[in-house]
Amino acid sequence: MTSIRSTEMAELENWSNGIMEPPFRHSNTPILHDSRSPMQVIERIAEMQDWSERARREGNRIVLVPTMGFLHEGHLSLVRDGRRRGSRLVVSIFVNPRQFSPGEDYTSYPRDFSRDQSLLEREGVDVLFHPSAAEMYPDDHQTHVEVGELGARLCGVSRPGHFRGVATVVAKLFNIVRPHIAVFGQKDFQQLQVIRRLVLDLNLGVEIVAHPTVREKDGLAMSSRNAYLNAKERQAAVSLSRSLKLAACLVRSGERRAERLLAAVRSEIDKEACARIDYVELCDPQSLQPVAAVEGPTLLALAVWFGRARLIDNTILDPQRS
Ligand code: AMP
Repeated sequence: MTSIRSTEMAELENWSNGIMEPPFRHSNTPILHDSRSPMQVIERIAEMQDWSERARREGNRIVLVPTMGFLHEGHLSLVRDGRRRGSRLVVSIFVNPRQFSPGEDYTSYPRDFSRDQSLLEREGVDVLFHPSAAEMYPDDHQTHVEVGELGARLCGVSRPGHFRGVATVVAKLFNIVRPHIAVFGQKDFQQLQVIRRLVLDLNLGVEIVAHPTVREKDGLAMSSRNAYLNAKERQAAVSLSRSLKLAACLVRSGERRAERLLAAVRSEIDKEACARIDYVELCDPQSLQPVAAVEGPTLLALAVWFGRARLIDNTILDPQRS
């Protein structure tokens, strides 16, 4: 296997030790309070639609940040990004039952609404949209958005129906909130591509903004599901970002073969006894189809179980920018 140069190894260590800060960490950013009205919490679809209708009529540019709550700095970074992009900011908190398969963590998914509410109040959010599952899916609900090939690969293999649930709820949220812009995280890269496709295919007319992945100091991508990790698993989970960085270093050293890069990533993760790999793949970032070699910008995506937490992470490998 191609070896990594020592400067790259040092860079890898710095990154995993948190010396090199990932972009968009704003935990120390002062909060700017303005003279806007206090945040409204809306639970009813009709009320949310009325609010948006009025805001549009008044000439506002509405930004939506959809979330499942249990907010962390990653979410808040999206919210701050959204704040800058429009004149009205809506954040939704909805743990969408339709994107969980039977046996997945829908009921145990972490929730803390009052903490989320106060965090969002401090970010100058105009509306927190927080519908119930019954409000979003009344008993007679029967229409879903089918996602094609994009939703069948990567996470779609072990989570069949997941992206159908995601596309359905995002289409509903777009019709309810009627945003001009919606912000999504690159941490869920496949979700981002599915939503971009959804907007194009169904002519939804919403501008989709991709926000870079926000990481803990040691490189672990922030996620609500990190709350499931015990101390040993938390330590081991750093292997995900470390392995992505290792692959980037190998590409920089000239390695192009997918087989070699995937083997290196797998063996880095396999060093952790409690890690169980779901998938590690190199694919075209648009089509998500697997590639045999890294010739241009290529998505390296992975999903790994640590105890009951299934964590995902990804990076774009770009030989031209190395
Ligand atoms: P979730 O609540 O997990 O459904 O995430 C809501 C939004 O936040 C999605 O667009 C995610 O991609 C995004 N997000 C979650 N974690 C991160 C992170 N660590 N960095 C950037 N975006 C994130």
